Amino acid sequence: MKIFDEVESAVQSYARSFPRVFCHAKGEFIWDQAGNQYLDFLSGAGALNYGHNNTIFKEALLNYIQADGITHGLDLHTKAKGEFLQAFNERILKPRNMEYVIQFTGPTGTNAVEAAMKIARKVTGQQSIITFTNGFHGVSLGSLAATGNSHHRLAAGIGLSGTHRMPYDGYLGEEIDTTEYLDKVLSDSSSGIDSPAAVIVETIQGEGGINTASAQWLRNLQAICKKHGLLLIVDDIQAGCGRTGDFFSFEEAGIEPDIITLSKSLGGYGLPIALVLMKPGLDQWKPGEHNGTFRGNNLAFITAQAAIDHYWSNTRFSKEIRHKGNYITMRLENIISQVGNGIFTRKGRTMFQGIDCVTGNLAKKIAKYAFEHELIIETSGADSQVLKLLCPLTISEKNLQRGLDIIESAFNDALAGEKVPMDIGGHLDSCRT
Ligand SMILES: *Cc1c(COP(=O)(O)O)cnc(C)c1O
Repeated sequence: MKIFDEVESAVQSYARSFPRVFCHAKGEFIWDQAGNQYLDFLSGAGALNYGHNNTIFKEALLNYIQADGITHGLDLHTKAKGEFLQAFNERILKPRNMEYVIQFTGPTGTNAVEAAMKIARKVTGQQSIITFTNGFHGVSLGSLAATGNSHHRLAAGIGLSGTHRMPYDGYLGEEIDTTEYLDKVLSDSSSGIDSPAAVIVETIQGEGGINTASAQWLRNLQAICKKHGLLLIVDDIQAGCGRTGDFFSFEEAGIEPDIITLSKSLGGYGLPIALVLMKPGLDQWKPGEHNGTFRGNNLAFITAQAAIDHYWSNTRFSKEIRHKGNYITMRLENIISQVGNGIFTRKGRTMFQGIDCVTGNLAKKIAKYAFEHELIIETSGADSQVLKLLCPLTISEKNLQRGLDIIESAFNDALAGEKVPMDIGGHLDSCRT
């Protein structure tokens, strides 16, 4: 369709990788105008953990719309919001012994991050926020200062301030615990790192290349935050809502963040909604200090509640995610051992995994082959070198297998006739995992 070239901004990005006009979608499938069916391993960059147009949520949504339920409510108390809060508190927070105040922000992830950083600064009276290499927290100015990617940062056109960058887990090699460096600079009054308000971290860096923080590293990070009086913010916007097998990605580490951000798959149906969870003592906002016209997206409350009620009232879904995660691990290990052990690395965990293909060129070639074979899959990382598998958590085992079969042939095809790049092999030992 010519209209996109004629009037839509050059800022388009996914549309360039998948140049089709898409019409409808269901579960793990999406169809283009010509009737081609694609398996979706992109899932709205993690906003569609429960698949497209999930039948259970759709029914709840249609009933609500049919009855003229409130659609837009600012921050007014509505039945839909009350029932969402009830479900979130009863099914998500209480069973995990988590006591948090819930703040609704503007409906994008970046707005939740802005609010989280603002409240941390307000409460501590400190300005600086510790962020990590390859972190991604959104592209509005405050969040962008916390984001590492230079492509995004340079677009700001203005100095980005209020953050200090530290090495993420594994950044200096597997042997080095980078939290020791953080502890050291925070203990040294001449380190040049002024007393910070907080640390913001992803347990798995989605956009940064599926770099994973170990449970021990996260526990060390929490201990250092406690020792030096910093608040710990976990940005669970992409890794949360079940992607790692637990509702929150940090559950495995057993840490208790002071502040948590959620968005992406929280709405369940792909409807925008974002939250900040904070320990009760931190809720020092004055009325309306942080706001957002669309902080009361009641349609999203309906689908978010349906998601919680249906998928998170017992442990069945978690088990299913872990089971599929194990299968993905097995298949990726297999692909790596077939096409060049010691060159490619498997990244991430559970259903948040990928393969580091060393170069962006190769990863893109593989993603392109996959698209030609009707699988939509993207890359991430500083050089787009990581093929990123983000299929819906609800995908059928048959289609999961089919997607992985396509990925396997894509690797075989991309590497056919190419000899193992030995010059690349040389510096792989120092590669992040
Ligand atoms: C996507 C993402 C954001 C930003 O969310 P938007 O809705 O795009 O503003 C922030 N943090 C993380 C970890 C993300 O993956």
